[in-house]
Amino acid sequence: MAHNKVILITGASRGIGRAIALAFAEPGSTVIVNYRSGREAAEETAEAVRRRGAQAVLSPFDVAQPEAVKAAFKDITDAFGRLDVLVNNAGITRDNIFPRLKESDWDEVLAVNLKGVFLCCQAAMRPMLKQRFGRIVTITSVVGFTGNAGQCNYAAAKAGIVGLTRSLAREVISRNITVNAVAPGYIETEMTQALSEDARRALLEQIPAGRTGTPEEVAAAVRFLASDEAGYITGQVLHVNGGMYMG
Ligand code: NDP
Repeated sequence: MAHNKVILITGASRGIGRAIALAFAEPGSTVIVNYRSGREAAEETAEAVRRRGAQAVLSPFDVAQPEAVKAAFKDITDAFGRLDVLVNNAGITRDNIFPRLKESDWDEVLAVNLKGVFLCCQAAMRPMLKQRFGRIVTITSVVGFTGNAGQCNYAAAKAGIVGLTRSLAREVISRNITVNAVAPGYIETEMTQALSEDARRALLEQIPAGRTGTPEEVAAAVRFLASDEAGYITGQVLHVNGGMYMG
């Protein structure tokens, strides 16, 4: 599917984004690896993509900075003439119980996890509308559906992604652009390594599969939604969570 396609993945230096970059890596495809600060890790991802026969390009920018986003998308379309797939994966957490949640914790998480998705989707519109083809997949989270104590900011942003996804999906499906989301449950990455042993155990008890998920299992869902075969699927959320939540 990725043959001759240009695919941009935000936050692809590590974790789920890295696995997504690798899932698209095949001869003929161009995988654009975005990150904010982890250059070394992003280089490693790009190298791994190249080993699978794809072209890999680094594109460092902060998804929350409008001018940086515009400039990066312009560079991409100038260089490759198109953008077929946008995967909005970049995300951060700033967890705290609600009475102690700082305004800056709220603003930072909403800026990266929700406004960043808006900015990247809008910047992707020009090439996708022009070429009358596009696939946008955004990584939301199970907590956008269930809520999670200590994550009011994160859950609000992740739930917001669903409204944005469904609305944009309705606007652009007539132009052959689909807009979907993938909602992972509990996946082993640096983001979840910060959890205490107790929190980890409590989480595992809520997962009927009895195990955490892998970044590759999330990447497979993204890859499907970005495929040509998924052209009639839009405005959907695909849950990848071992049965933790059934939407
Ligand atoms: P990691 O913390 O392991 O990786 C986050 C990635 O996002 C890094 O590549 C980081 O790059 C990048 N990033 C962070 N902020 C920005 C920014 N402002 N601009 C550009 N890139 C940025 O996270 P995961 O792989 O665990 O998570 C990936 C996505 O999946 C996130 O949206 C997360 O919310 C979601 N998710 C994760 C779950 C899990 O259990 N792990 C569960 C549900 C959803 P750098 O460090 O170089 O800035």
